[in-house]
Amino acid sequence: MIPEVVVIGAGIAGSALAYYLSSAGARVTVLERDYGGLGATARSAGLLTSQLWNSLDIRLARTTQDISCELLGEGRDGFQRVGFLRVTRDESDLVAMKKNLETYREMGIRAELLLREELQDRFPPIRCDDLVAGLHTPEDGFIDPYDLAATFLSRARDGGAVIRPNMAVTRIGSSPKGVTLETALGEVTAERVILAAGAWCPFLLKGSGLTSYLRPYRVQALVTAPLENPPDLPMFHELPEGYYFRPEQNGLLLGDGTEEREVDPTAYNANADFALLSEVAGWISRRIPSLEDVKVVKGWAGLCVATPDRYPLVGQVDEVDGLYLLAGFNGLGVMRAPPLALALADYILGRKPAIDLSPLSPSRFRGVSDFAIREGFTLQ
Ligand SMILES: Cc1cc2nc3c(=O)[nH]c(=O)nc-3n(C[C@H](O)[C@H](O)[C@H](O)COP(=O)(O)OP(=O)(O)OC[C@H]3O[C@@H](n4cnc5c(N)ncnc54)[C@H](O)[C@@H]3O)c2cc1C
Repeated sequence: MIPEVVVIGAGIAGSALAYYLSSAGARVTVLERDYGGLGATARSAGLLTSQLWNSLDIRLARTTQDISCELLGEGRDGFQRVGFLRVTRDESDLVAMKKNLETYREMGIRAELLLREELQDRFPPIRCDDLVAGLHTPEDGFIDPYDLAATFLSRARDGGAVIRPNMAVTRIGSSPKGVTLETALGEVTAERVILAAGAWCPFLLKGSGLTSYLRPYRVQALVTAPLENPPDLPMFHELPEGYYFRPEQNGLLLGDGTEEREVDPTAYNANADFALLSEVAGWISRRIPSLEDVKVVKGWAGLCVATPDRYPLVGQVDEVDGLYLLAGFNGLGVMRAPPLALALADYILGRKPAIDLSPLSPSRFRGVSDFAIREGFTLQ
């Protein structure tokens, strides 16, 4: 039997897509190399903030917050609305911060720009004497992304989707019957296939003789030991370096160890670097004086995927009729993927998507042969 739609990869993107397709009545099979959710999704910090540099992403992040509240609930086991504070030590960031503040307010997002003394009054545990200003969005929060992906996947299963773990796709091709996929258990043919295999998409595309405008890069995170008296803290992002933290159980999750260079997803170092550990531990003990003796107890690295313009690739692949991409989230995939998966599901099923996907078309880079990897989580 030919399945109607096959999704390759069960991270947040593939799981959300499987859920939206199956709840609309499509016959869906998910082929997953491992068990699902264990790629970048399980390694993510799960920040869902509206402090992004363009109105599409702000809208996507807000929608993912709503989806998270609906599927996981609000509170310690779901969407934790602790607010997001982005600060800078650089005067020249103020212009962009003021511009962003205007955009957030126009979009109905609660936001405030706080100067040094106001910051210190509002966030006493944080040392603010060397900061210029901070933008605070109190309605932002974070989730455990693995939980959200697992919820999407189990709801997809409830809706009739077939989930095939341990089923790596090794090659993509085409035949008169549809898209053909080589797997360890033989060939699968489907009318429509969506490639949502995260950092492994370029590997699979190139290995199948298809063009790829996706480049995987390494991002790291660290976690501290539980704190005896955890201070009341928002999610926090400091410029110019880009260090961040957010509450994690009774400790903190810390970053950011983004490396803007391409890595091989089949042979990357999944551990955090010792150099990052001492750098970030030093930073946090200066920024929050009560954490002077804090211990970092674990760390890891995951893979994000860059595109030339830092926007994802969502839609039909030129070379193979019936093949679609949902990838290239540039480090913002937990925020971006769920609403884009819904829009792609609508598009595939012939409905009008709530988001115009044409600017995200995978063919928009035709002729681009090389591009630089640039971090996605920035002020502008
Ligand atoms: C340290 C870190 C912190 C981050 N913090 C944030 C954050 O705060 N907010 C945010 O929005 N984003 C964040 N991200 C980015 C986010 O995690 C990713 O953008 C997102 O998880 C990508 O989801 P995905 O489904 O595309 O890929 P993945 O989660 O990597 O899923 C891809 C899936 O495809 C499967 N697969 C691979 N190859 C094959 C194959 N050949 N056949 C079948 N299956 C295959 C994999 O096993 C995997 O399950 C962070 C990432 C990292 C590493």
